[in-house]
Amino acid sequence: MQLRKNNLERLENERFDALIVGGGINGAVSAASLAARGLKVGLIDARDFAGFTSQHSSNLVWGGIKYMEGYEFGLVSGLCRSRNELLRSFPSTVKEIRFLMTINKQFRFHPWVILASTWLYWLLGRGRTRIPRLLSLRQIKRLEPLINTFISTAGIEYSDAFLHDNDARFVFNFVRSAMDRGCAAANYVESTGAARTQDGGWKIAARDQVGGREFSIETRVLINACGAFVDAHNRLSGIETEHRHLFSKGIHLIVPRISETHRVLAFFADDERLFFAIPMANRTCIGTTDTQVDDPVTRVSDDDRDFVLSNINARLDLASPLSRQDIIAERCGVRPLAVRRAQAGAGDVQQLSRRHVIEIDVDRRHVSIFGGKLTDCLNVGAEISDAVSKLGLGPGRVAGKWYGEPGAAERKSYYARASALGLDDIVAGDTGEALSVRLWRRYAGNAQAMLDAIERDPSLREPLIENAGIRRCEIDYLANNEMIVKLEDYLRRRSKIELLLPRSVLRQSAGLFEACEKLFGDEAKQRFDEYFDGETAAANNTSFGSE
Ligand SMILES: Cc1cc2nc3c(=O)[nH]c(=O)nc-3n(C[C@H](O)[C@H](O)[C@H](O)COP(=O)(O)OP(=O)(O)OC[C@H]3O[C@@H](n4cnc5c(N)ncnc54)[C@H](O)[C@@H]3O)c2cc1C
Repeated sequence: MQLRKNNLERLENERFDALIVGGGINGAVSAASLAARGLKVGLIDARDFAGFTSQHSSNLVWGGIKYMEGYEFGLVSGLCRSRNELLRSFPSTVKEIRFLMTINKQFRFHPWVILASTWLYWLLGRGRTRIPRLLSLRQIKRLEPLINTFISTAGIEYSDAFLHDNDARFVFNFVRSAMDRGCAAANYVESTGAARTQDGGWKIAARDQVGGREFSIETRVLINACGAFVDAHNRLSGIETEHRHLFSKGIHLIVPRISETHRVLAFFADDERLFFAIPMANRTCIGTTDTQVDDPVTRVSDDDRDFVLSNINARLDLASPLSRQDIIAERCGVRPLAVRRAQAGAGDVQQLSRRHVIEIDVDRRHVSIFGGKLTDCLNVGAEISDAVSKLGLGPGRVAGKWYGEPGAAERKSYYARASALGLDDIVAGDTGEALSVRLWRRYAGNAQAMLDAIERDPSLREPLIENAGIRRCEIDYLANNEMIVKLEDYLRRRSKIELLLPRSVLRQSAGLFEACEKLFGDEAKQRFDEYFDGETAAANNTSFGSE
């Protein structure tokens, strides 16, 4: 908590070149790219970092094959470029994965048309991934015996990528890298509106959601990265834009692992949209839906659950169909979709573009980020860097990268050290992953801190939370460096434990309370009880300046 306290003090007392409101993926990459340019950057989020839409994605890093149906080749090409760069720059986190797409009889396109599309998709992806191929029903059955081929006509196998850990962890690592370069970031700080200052900058009215204190933050440029709340925040700051957001709700259900083959199973649902069964450690994440809503704060409804369960059950030959009792965890978020204001009701959200739009108000030194995808994050970071240059904050992009895992030399020295400490031999039972690999994937260069801890005390290699894969060496690092304010920040976003273990099991886990003591000190019991009493979950569904 000392880190947050220090950053709050800095937010209140320093004057920033750029203040970013909103710490989802768009705000996090903005902070990382600007901090890497040596600018003085502040970042606040009313919830935890990635506490809204960016924790509810499908975890896919992909070019969006389905957007080709709307002829959005420019968007798909840009997303593929970003996907490829993410694969190159984050080789431990962003992984190529095969998709097995099954095509139902009577589907609106012939399998040959879909095969041709996957080839075009592969070409738009500059041939970076393994090539697509057409599969007969017999080949599908051989690759994935679970698929109900009785209703299918053929299959296609092609490649895309996914986030091995989870979206929120991916976002936090950008926040961490921004902080490593001097950014003053704080979660649970809401902006209640911003006003111009006499010298042409901004003064933001901020409220610390933890302590309740109100204070102001001064900045030369204001960047609105509030995701679904961009319009609401612009209204609070007197900013008018050409674009606005519409919202599309999407849900995922997490169930016990349905297949041992490490593939994404892709189907066309009853509404003819692509939906997926995606591997998530020893679980499967199934979704998603795409329904227009007016309020960005949403919950999973029984209709949503039944839609996902009935579609997956119809397409798989499971020993017993999945039911609500099989659901371990749920994810529910809204996609903020950018539309022109003039575009009135804007029609069917499923047909709306997923592109991002960055609107710059040069006179007011203000930037708004609309729409986008996690996959688009490198493009957004680079464009924000260009945008602030237009607003007078120094030269354009700096040479070199503002993102990515450390280079080969650092990686090699880490692995040599980890191996000498025996971490290659400690292997997770559920995923078969060595501890050395897991620590590097999650913490990259900062994993050296855990090796230091193990060197001092070898018992820190032991598990801390039963069934959750967390080792004792991680907890001090987490407490000091990852700004964990509530237990949910840790269980849901810095890790994905909450998605893998039912709450009843988690509550009984030996070591969880001990982890709370390390993370929260005297407040351990309060944080533990608030999590299990459901208060944290309720607070995270509170709308801040909702539409
Ligand atoms: C179901 C679903 C599946 C998806 N799947 C994928 C996928 O597989 N791949 C992919 O690339 N993309 C996917 N996306 C899209 C992607 O998740 C979103 O585009 C992205 O997460 C949006 O990020 P953001 O930063 O704009 O918004 P957010 O993540 O919502 O961040 C905005 C932040 O602003 C904060 N905020 C709001 N108001 C204030 C205020 N007044 N003061 C301070 N902070 C404030 C919020 O608390 C929030 O944390 C999916 C989206 C959904 C809903």
